[in-house]
Amino acid sequence: MTRTIARAAILCVLVARMCSAQSLSAHWEELTSSDFQKALVKAKNTCILAGGILEKHGPTGPLGTDMFNTRNAVDLATQKEYAIIFPEYYVGQIVEAQQQPGTISYSMETQLMMLDETTKEMARNGCKKIIIQGIHGRDLVPTFVMSQLDSPRDYVVYTITGTPGENAIPPSKPDANGHGGEAEMSRVMAWRPELVKPERAGEESYKAMGRLNALPPYLFTAIWWYADFPNHYAGDAANATAARGQAMVDLQVKSIAESLKAIKDDQVTPQLQKEFFEKRNHPTLGAATSKAVAAAPATRN
Ligand SMILES: [Zn+2]
Repeated sequence: MTRTIARAAILCVLVARMCSAQSLSAHWEELTSSDFQKALVKAKNTCILAGGILEKHGPTGPLGTDMFNTRNAVDLATQKEYAIIFPEYYVGQIVEAQQQPGTISYSMETQLMMLDETTKEMARNGCKKIIIQGIHGRDLVPTFVMSQLDSPRDYVVYTITGTPGENAIPPSKPDANGHGGEAEMSRVMAWRPELVKPERAGEESYKAMGRLNALPPYLFTAIWWYADFPNHYAGDAANATAARGQAMVDLQVKSIAESLKAIKDDQVTPQLQKEFFEKRNHPTLGAATSKAVAAAPATRN
């Protein structure tokens, strides 16, 4: 009896190994070249450019916090709804943290060029629907996504705005969720708890200093963030927990998986983009044609 159970257990392990060998990784860099083509079919030509940034996350978090949080959510989402994930991408907007050790910041020209060339290379390889997730930069990604109408292309770029789940789970106190605070650290703790040091949360101030408060609130200037948060820390991470993080991650994973499904099924956006590019090449053709018809002498039979 014991032998039978042992044999069954060995068989189960072998079958599991065979199945995992046959299943396709969602990670671009882990696929063989021929499996990449199978992956494209399985993903319905849908790929994810999931990025992060190297920047200080208060006194408690790792420099790669944004990448850890994005990759964790995207990895889990592709287990529900398969898509190909581009390798780790660290080019984003973070000039305002250059005074902090460990920050890597690229120029705006390079950020846009890298996004453009990376998505074009992804599309050349068959990724006809690309979703950008988590790349750092207040206005960078929306600006880049809008620039997709600049010139004709045979692929569509999508993005998810905001961080779904972050506001759905209430923080332990009203001002805890800012940059480097409770929400971000809780999400890291859900995946890599050893990287977070909540006990250091009180070592620096996260309170807004209000050094530009004399200016009218509708005026905007680049030094605004440094004026308020010179420590590059804007939320209290002391009460961060893995459980709170997991609840946020679950909601984020759900919304990414839903987005992936919608994108894979989406026939309308590519068609509208194609129609737009055809029309924008001849914006006056319709008007000229109708004018010409109106001016033409009536045909006599
Ligand atoms: Zn962050």
